Amino acid sequence: ASRFADVAQAPPDPILGVSEAFKRCTDPKKLNLGVGAYRDENLKPMVLDVVRKAEAKIFAANKDHEYLPIEGLDTFRKATIDLLLGAGHPAIKDDRVAVIQSLSGTGSLRVGAAFIARFLPKGTTVYISNPTWGNHRNIFADENVEWKYYRYFDADTVGLDFKGMVEDLKAAPAGSVVLLHGCAHNPTGVDPTADQWAAIADLCKERNLLPFFDVAYQGFATGDLDKDAFAPRLFVDKGLEVMVAQSYSKNLGLYGERVGAMSIVTSDKDAATRCLSQLKRLARPLYSNPPTHGARIAAEIVNDQELFTEWKAEMMGMAGRIARVRGELQAALEAKYPSKDWSFVTRQIGMFSFTGLTPAQVDNMTNKHAIYMTRDGRISLAGLNSAKVDYLAEAMIDSVR
Ligand code: PLP
Repeated sequence: ASRFADVAQAPPDPILGVSEAFKRCTDPKKLNLGVGAYRDENLKPMVLDVVRKAEAKIFAANKDHEYLPIEGLDTFRKATIDLLLGAGHPAIKDDRVAVIQSLSGTGSLRVGAAFIARFLPKGTTVYISNPTWGNHRNIFADENVEWKYYRYFDADTVGLDFKGMVEDLKAAPAGSVVLLHGCAHNPTGVDPTADQWAAIADLCKERNLLPFFDVAYQGFATGDLDKDAFAPRLFVDKGLEVMVAQSYSKNLGLYGERVGAMSIVTSDKDAATRCLSQLKRLARPLYSNPPTHGARIAAEIVNDQELFTEWKAEMMGMAGRIARVRGELQAALEAKYPSKDWSFVTRQIGMFSFTGLTPAQVDNMTNKHAIYMTRDGRISLAGLNSAKVDYLAEAMIDSVR
């Protein structure tokens, strides 16, 4: 018998498990709306033209495969904070930002969680939105950081429960961390308005809460990289210190390259220097140093005016395709089932629509119609094209009727 005989079988991951089930499915009508990965109109993975161009430059330069420093590639670290705050931001000029390149959004969040566990007072709780991306809970729980929900989604209005959110954050102990989605909230597609963001920032200030932004979809809310950085920029401009985890999986389509960064914007340069030294110390025993290739790509693009401009246009194209299928889906649902209000489909933003389908209805979508999606009722519109809109609408109506 194996010494590992008592190791229990783990359940499949609620999001990545959907892709595994999709792969096994032999139905030719099958549709994968589970994972939030961009697909072109033929539902094929897409490599951005700017990424191909950046790679050509990198290959032409005949670079080596040495280790990066623990904190990552310098040109990437500059690029990532420029993208977040805007080049020339006072916090950058004053050297008040500690930036460590890490393993995409997930790894960056994890380093951030490790930082909270080690350097914030014992028992500091992280408040996360209800609902949120499923992995947030795991990331904090596995670092033994306590987490609690704050109210976020109002199923009746299919909108933000702003009152509930404010009440919960007001009740959070001073010094707590508040995890906020920078834009294009996953899974709901519901973001605060500009005024609501300002009120949340003021509340964080009053209650001495530490905002921790998860920026995984910069560019996918409005199609505009600057507009989508509105919330973290506003908080920093209001004088708040913030933690930020960034991912380039979605907006550069670099999923498998694991490109991202964990940053702490502080109120003085010395604090940033010390925070960076500790972020490095946390990363060293976790993975030593981050991967090179994807960071070079992101740096080439953000630091080069021509490529950056081209990226912005491609970003608009991706966000625009999603917005178009959103509109088509809503129109199909309204045509087929006019007595129900489907306006939420185009009110929501980003990659996802939070359909309100119950787990049993999701099972019907998958088992009867071979449409794969997470059991919380989320569908990724990045995985939909015009040709499949009618099929999806009919399956949704069959499932809710
Ligand atoms: N945060 C949110 C809200 C996400 O939706 C995702 C990916 O789905 C991530 C972070 C991290 O993704 P990655 O680790 O691929 O950058």
